[in-house]
Amino acid sequence: MITAELELHRPGSVAEALDLLARHGDDAKILGGGMSLVPTMTLGLARPEIVISLNHVPELRAITEDAATATLRIGGTARHNDVIASPLVARHAPLLADAARHIGDVQVRNRGTIGGSVAHADPAADYLPTLVALAASVVVRSTRGERVIPAAEFFIDVMATALAPDELIAEIRVPSQGAARGAYRRLARVEGSFAIVNAAAVVRPAGSGASVVAIGGVAGAPVVVDASAAVAAGLTEAALAAFEDAVRTACPQPFEDLNGDAEYRREMAVIHARRALLAAAGAAAA
Ligand SMILES: Cc1cc2nc3c(=O)[nH]c(=O)nc-3n(C[C@H](O)[C@H](O)[C@H](O)COP(=O)(O)OP(=O)(O)OC[C@H]3O[C@@H](n4cnc5c(N)ncnc54)[C@H](O)[C@@H]3O)c2cc1C
Repeated sequence: MITAELELHRPGSVAEALDLLARHGDDAKILGGGMSLVPTMTLGLARPEIVISLNHVPELRAITEDAATATLRIGGTARHNDVIASPLVARHAPLLADAARHIGDVQVRNRGTIGGSVAHADPAADYLPTLVALAASVVVRSTRGERVIPAAEFFIDVMATALAPDELIAEIRVPSQGAARGAYRRLARVEGSFAIVNAAAVVRPAGSGASVVAIGGVAGAPVVVDASAAVAAGLTEAALAAFEDAVRTACPQPFEDLNGDAEYRREMAVIHARRALLAAAGAAAA
């Protein structure tokens, strides 16, 4: 039960939301889908005096494309189910829709938003390694202006991001996958639970950028391993063994908890990174 008194604001435009954030900053919390914020308030872990709901700002929920730059633009309050159902996401970034399909259960996918997940920055969230592998950017706005932050720089540590208290996540920009192919793999105890580790692979055709695998659940922020050499070598067993060693090196001290110790998590990261890479390369070959 939420016992502390709070003021709820329901701005109808981005400008109004930014004005509220500028005035209340540290005392305020943005409400997206409420899937993470409400439980933390119920437990007393967050006690905002002001809550600013973004649920009445229709422009923040739009999913559009910028044809000139082949960029997908996903509004910060787009629900996980909006991402899953969007024909534009299916055309430009099918890997993102694949990751979204794994999030929680049907209620969570109906209410939870991409901006909320990115702001919350749980290290095992399904979007985090996916956005990093896709070289996406997070567009944040405040009354001071707009910043476009590469996802690889936005996620800093466990639930710590580059977002300032007076900023909101307005949009996620994803460059179109084009001829690149992606695959997402995750380890979870049961259907609907958070991943223990997850891995998103993007394999690009020769000469069009690096092939990478981004891994979540092992460190405060997604860990990126370059898979270009393994792909160029035809993913032979020797090349895959070298890639696996690179994953181990990139995960020197994974988290330890009831789901597993550091060594278990590291080896699960290796297995899921390999599976994601092979699946993406298979799709690329096809
Ligand atoms: C039972 C359950 C299972 C789940 N399973 C998974 C899972 O398997 N995989 C997974 O990835 N996630 C999972 N989640 C988390 C889910 O994806 C949430 O939707 C997400 O973490 C938060 O999104 P939200 O829109 O609900 O944000 P909220 O709860 O509204 O907000 C979360 C935080 O982000 C801030 N915030 C929200 N929107 C913005 C914005 N636009 N700009 C700036 N700050 C903002 C809030 O102030 C708050 O600090 C699960 C959640 C639950 C309850």
